[in-house]
Amino acid sequence: MLKIFNSIKNKKEKFISIKKKNVNIYVCGVTVYDLCHIGHGRTFVFFDIMIRYLIYFGYKINYVRNITDFDDKIINKSNKKKISIKNLTNSMILKMKEDFNNLNLLKPNKEPLVTDNIQNIIELILKLLKNKNAYINYKGDILFSIKTYNNYGHFFKKNKINILKNSNKIDFVLWKKSKINEPGWLSPWGIGRPGWHIECSTICNKYLGNKIDIHGGGQDLIFPHHENEIAQSQCIFKNNKINYWVHVGMLMIDNDKMSKSKNNDLKIRTLLNNYNNEIIRYFLLSRHYRKPLIYKINSLNKYTNILKFMYKSLQNTNPNIKILLGNTFKNRFFEAINDDFNIPESFSVLLSLSKEINNLKNKQSSKVHNFAARLRQLAGILGLLKNDPNDFLKKINGYSSKINDKNFFYYKYIDKINKIRNYYRINKKWKLADKMRKKLNKLNIRIEDNINNTNLYKK
Ligand SMILES: [Zn+2]
Repeated sequence: MLKIFNSIKNKKEKFISIKKKNVNIYVCGVTVYDLCHIGHGRTFVFFDIMIRYLIYFGYKINYVRNITDFDDKIINKSNKKKISIKNLTNSMILKMKEDFNNLNLLKPNKEPLVTDNIQNIIELILKLLKNKNAYINYKGDILFSIKTYNNYGHFFKKNKINILKNSNKIDFVLWKKSKINEPGWLSPWGIGRPGWHIECSTICNKYLGNKIDIHGGGQDLIFPHHENEIAQSQCIFKNNKINYWVHVGMLMIDNDKMSKSKNNDLKIRTLLNNYNNEIIRYFLLSRHYRKPLIYKINSLNKYTNILKFMYKSLQNTNPNIKILLGNTFKNRFFEAINDDFNIPESFSVLLSLSKEINNLKNKQSSKVHNFAARLRQLAGILGLLKNDPNDFLKKINGYSSKINDKNFFYYKYIDKINKIRNYYRINKKWKLADKMRKKLNKLNIRIEDNINNTNLYKK
């Protein structure tokens, strides 16, 4: 029986769907002002696994993920790039879909745009104003009044709730009035645009109704986004119910939080240019989804080797055989995933299974095909080992070559060290040059010196 950690109750709970064999899932989507980074990748790969797993057990899934195609960041970027908002968001949506497709993510049943739902948003704000859960401030913006919602603080420890309730500083914007020359939509309150939280309450309810099985997103969305979403939805819709809140941990770069301002945000596209998608998927799932995952330059090498090992074990086996053996592995695998999606543990089961296949190969046992088929079946649930082993192993060798992507996260750093090394070499300061070489080796970079230049390779 599947257990999921429910963030709102702060504990693991048995998963029981509202309707017997149907599950509806809402996941907060991307704000499309830039290319998607690997933090998005982690969140959406995790929900992809959740959905694949539920489908495997016969559930029909209704999966909705919104697209925020209008907000301050988008307006600023379109001004900076001197292109229209629509041109910017259309191109980013296209690229997002390409990246997600290349990551082998299942498509949501619906991907509503915020800009297609403005009228619905306005109607809900009207309801909140009518119920006196919202007010218009001196600037002409409409805010949600926290003190009118007694249950505010679902995700908080109790002592914090009172502090919050006594303050109107955390009232949040439902509708922002546009300044002169700012874009927006006509509303009963003049030209303006919706706040972020109200878009999710609106879209979630419009496309999935009043009873939701699973609502998810990254852990950074718990507060204020999801807290505020509950407050609005509870005030607007009677008996609004969301059973499981699921949040995915943050992705860190070398122990630092990834952010644009630190210039260390790593795009999904950059990784896809350098690694096979199954390796990226494996890495993104390599730590339990609720814990932080740390990216380091050689993180993906480890998972490249693991997948190579697994594919090698599948070479020269017959995948189209009826599976009769390997139940112990299957049970251990399901046990791991049923325990709040302990995917790292399920990976270790796949690895043991791979080792078992190699043992059987050494013994020239005919059972090998059965265990190989079992490995493919179980890995397939996680969207892995989908390739022909020979194809994969051939392709993988093509990837582990030169560092040629200028966008590669560490490229500039590596390039700088290399330039310093070459400067020392030209000036015959061999000891110092050697120090730089060691530095590059530590970063898993292989150096090839030619007469005129130096080529760098990933080890
Ligand atoms: Zn949301």
